Amino acid sequence: MQRQEPAPGTLYLVGTPIGHLGDLSSRATALLASVDVIACEDTRHSGQLLRKIGAVGRRLSFHQHNTCTRLPQLLQLLEQQQSLAVISDAGLPGISDPGEDLAAAARQAGHEVICIPGPCAATTALVCSGMPSARFCFEGFLPAKGRERRERLQKLALETRTTILYEAPHRLLSLLDDLQQHCGLDRPLHVARELTKRHEQHVGQTISSVRNHFHHHRPQGEFTLVLGGAAPAMPSELSDDDLLERLQQCINAGASASEAARQLAHDTGRSRRALYDLLHQQTPD
Ligand code: SAM
Repeated sequence: MQRQEPAPGTLYLVGTPIGHLGDLSSRATALLASVDVIACEDTRHSGQLLRKIGAVGRRLSFHQHNTCTRLPQLLQLLEQQQSLAVISDAGLPGISDPGEDLAAAARQAGHEVICIPGPCAATTALVCSGMPSARFCFEGFLPAKGRERRERLQKLALETRTTILYEAPHRLLSLLDDLQQHCGLDRPLHVARELTKRHEQHVGQTISSVRNHFHHHRPQGEFTLVLGGAAPAMPSELSDDDLLERLQQCINAGASASEAARQLAHDTGRSRRALYDLLHQQTPD
């Protein structure tokens, strides 16, 4: 038998549509209609959806700018045995959206935390792309600029798993330029635009062809990028200079010498000791 929902003193992370309103599940609808309190990223934005399903719970705003003040209040509601749902503007709370801190704090305080699963742009784009999905990573939004952004791009250049990125329309072209610079023209790339909406569109298949497309069509709407993994280098094809360059990239990205050697040993099958020695032969004492 399924458990009674909503249960008192329980936090529910509820997935909501990323476009198509038909994607709100019947379980999410029932929960949101009857939960005591709904923490919304934007109460006005979610008002339309909540009115449509006849939600009666008290609505509180919960977003990145009021997390510090709101978090203790939400925990107190759970303490008082109220049922609490958290929703974001779209998709799964906690994925590039508020929810992560609240889930962690609620668990820490010993409350039950339950996810009512729903759409997520990252996994929706991934499965549409046809790229390898057995192992993948999620980068969300890259830092907007500076050293942190460069370091993340350098790591992406070496990442062998399919990687999912989010980007705002006005920043898409500069992300495509950066990806081309760090990962090359021919790396597979799939861009999913306006998923689940009327103007859903999929553009591929390489960084250069996608870049070319969006240089001719102004990016509008919401975008999720699925970047193919770097081809794993055959250890025998890598010269000492190649290995040193990769070690240096890892170190520039913040790894210690031994972490860089361990990572590259893992990626290439070379001996960690030999890589460490190679690095130190080049480093004057
Ligand atoms: N929590 C959401 C989720 O589960 O997908 C993600 C929220 S994040 C703040 C918003 C970003 O997700 C957008 O900038 C875009 O990159 C991506 N996104 C959201 N809806 C999308 C859609 N319908 N089509 C493509 N990408 C979308």
